[in-house]
Order: sequence, then C-alpha cells, then structure tokens
Amino acid sequence: MTDVIIIGSGPAGISAALTLQANNKNFIWFGKKELSAKIRKAEKIHNYPGLSDVSGEDFCNMLRQQLSAAGLSPIEKTVTGVYAMDDSFSVLCNDEMFESRIVIVATGVETLKTVEGEADFIGRGVSYCATCDGLLYRGKDIAILCTAKDLEHEIDYLASLARTVHLFPLYPAPKQFAGNVILHKGMPERLLGSLRLEKLKAGGQEIPVDGMFFLKNSVSPSVLIGGIQMDGAHVHVDRSQATSLSGCFACGDCTGRPYQYAKAVGEGNVAAHSAIAFLAKH
Ligand SMILES: Cc1cc2nc3c(=O)[nH]c(=O)nc-3n(C[C@H](O)[C@H](O)[C@H](O)COP(=O)(O)OP(=O)(O)OC[C@H]3O[C@@H](n4cnc5c(N)ncnc54)[C@H](O)[C@@H]3O)c2cc1C
Repeated sequence: MTDVIIIGSGPAGISAALTLQANNKNFIWFGKKELSAKIRKAEKIHNYPGLSDVSGEDFCNMLRQQLSAAGLSPIEKTVTGVYAMDDSFSVLCNDEMFESRIVIVATGVETLKTVEGEADFIGRGVSYCATCDGLLYRGKDIAILCTAKDLEHEIDYLASLARTVHLFPLYPAPKQFAGNVILHKGMPERLLGSLRLEKLKAGGQEIPVDGMFFLKNSVSPSVLIGGIQMDGAHVHVDRSQATSLSGCFACGDCTGRPYQYAKAVGEGNVAAHSAIAFLAKH
C-alpha cells in the first residue's frame, strides 16, 4: 500500500506532488502527461506572482520542465472510483485497483452542466465508465454524451457491444464511427424513467434507451468518491484542506472559487502538508 494517491495533474495536483516529493513521501499520481488543458488555455497570465505576461502554453512548458527535472510524471490513468475503507482507500482506474492511506483530490471542475434527471439514474442506467459498465449493455440501446476527442476510443468500445448508440459529441469534428452509431447535435434535454432510465428527450423527440454513458475527462467528486460531503458543486474542506472523509484531502478548483492558479497551487501545498501530518499522527 502506498502512502498517498493524488488524483489530478493541474496546478493543485502538481503542487501536491512536488511537496510530497520534497518530503520524501511515497505516492502515486494519476492525471495526464499533458498536465491540464486549462493551463494551456490562458492567453496571457497576469495574476501569478513571478510570472508576467507569460502565455498558458509557456507556463505549462515551464511546469513540465520542472517536473521532468524532479523526475516526476503523472501516471496517465483516469480514476473512476474512490472507496473509503476502515483506515485506507481503494482507488479504481477502470478495472485496476490501487490502495493508499491518504487520497488527495485535485480533479478541477467540470463546467458542463448536468442533464436534467442525470443524478436520479446514477447506477440505474447512468454510468461514467465505459470499461466498468459497458458489458451490461451488450446488445442493448444506449446513448453517449462525450466531451473530448481523446475519449473516442471509449465510444468505439461501447459501439462494439451495444445494438444502437445515440451519440452526443460536445467537441468539434467527431471521427467516423461504426454503422450502429447515430450522431445527434447538442445536449439531451432530459433523462426519463421510473425505476431505471428508460428514455431521453433530445431535439424535441423521445429516444428509448437502456443506458446512458457520460464520457468526460473530469467527473464531479460527488460521483467519484462515495459519501464525500459537498458544498453545492464543490468539495467541502476545512483550512487544512481536509474533507469530510478521514484521510481524504482536496485542493484547487474542485474546492470552490476563485478558480485561479495561485489558489490551486497554495491549496495543493497545504493538502500535501496536511497529508504528511496525518501520516505522522496515524
Ligand atoms: C481559458 C482559461 C484561462 C484561464 N486563465 C487563468 C489566468 O490567467 N489566471 C489564473 O489564475 N487562472 C486562470 N484560469 C483558471 C485556472 O486554469 C484554474 O483555476 C486551474 O487550472 C485549476 O487548477 P486545478 O489543479 O484545480 O484543476 P485543473 O487545472 O482543472 O486540473 C485538473 C486535472 O485533473 C485531471 N483529472 C480530473 N479528473 C480526473 C480523474 N478522475 N482521474 C485522473 N485525472 C483527473 C484533469 O484531466 C486535469 O488534468 C483559466 C482557466 C481557463 C479555462
């Protein structure tokens, strides 16, 4: 079992990783090798101490150089579930399980609004993980909402299992998919059903489906981590970045506004120090 698992490779996760490394802690870090799309997106950064008139692209390259010099690189896996055990955590990346004593959540915020009815059918037709739940829908009719081109391989996988796929791609220029994939424009308006999801409303029509997959790079912590206390859309934390789950800390945009690099970096640092203190105490 490792001491700490960090989830997320934006400024908050990077700061936590650098701090843990500087304190000789062993940890596993999940995220993206390209770090965070949000870092690259800034045209010019004016509000970060020490950086003046730097583009997001340049900032990201500086962070990558710093990590490379420190011998750090996130493991490119998406965490699909975090489960609090008695005094440890089980962290699931699709069908792979990892264990740690502490989890640091630095997953950013998903700005996409949820579809009406989405939360009502989680585990009853709504899924966020193609590899975890895909087999349940062999030969069935499903819908997929996908927010990023780099997730198209998951659409291919689901299309190889399902009878029909109603696809709502929210990114430009989707590729050509198998013949059972029907493309739709925009977002579905509403999910409907009684005990399970039965149909969705989209473009003024009702489409019968057995399941719906939401393929996103970032899933709300309330979905990812069973039992975690939220303040609206954000993880509830105290000043040590501790969440409502003992041994679980959160930092960066996922804990609330302002959504800024300086806050994310500061909170990542505090979360790592709190994790170190927690390890020493327990
Ligand atoms: C266009 C734009 C311009 C901006 N300009 C500025 C600016 O000039 N100044 C400023 O201070 N702020 C700016 N921001 C805000 C800033 O980008 C964010 O506040 C900051 O990136 C938050 O860092 P974070 O680490 O909390 O989250 P993020 O940067 O969002 O990083 C989260 C990372 O975690 C990964 N992740 C999520 N879920 C999982 C999972 N389940 N498993 C594995 N990995 C996961 C994501 O893929 C992502 O890489 C801007 C944002 C945008 C969109």
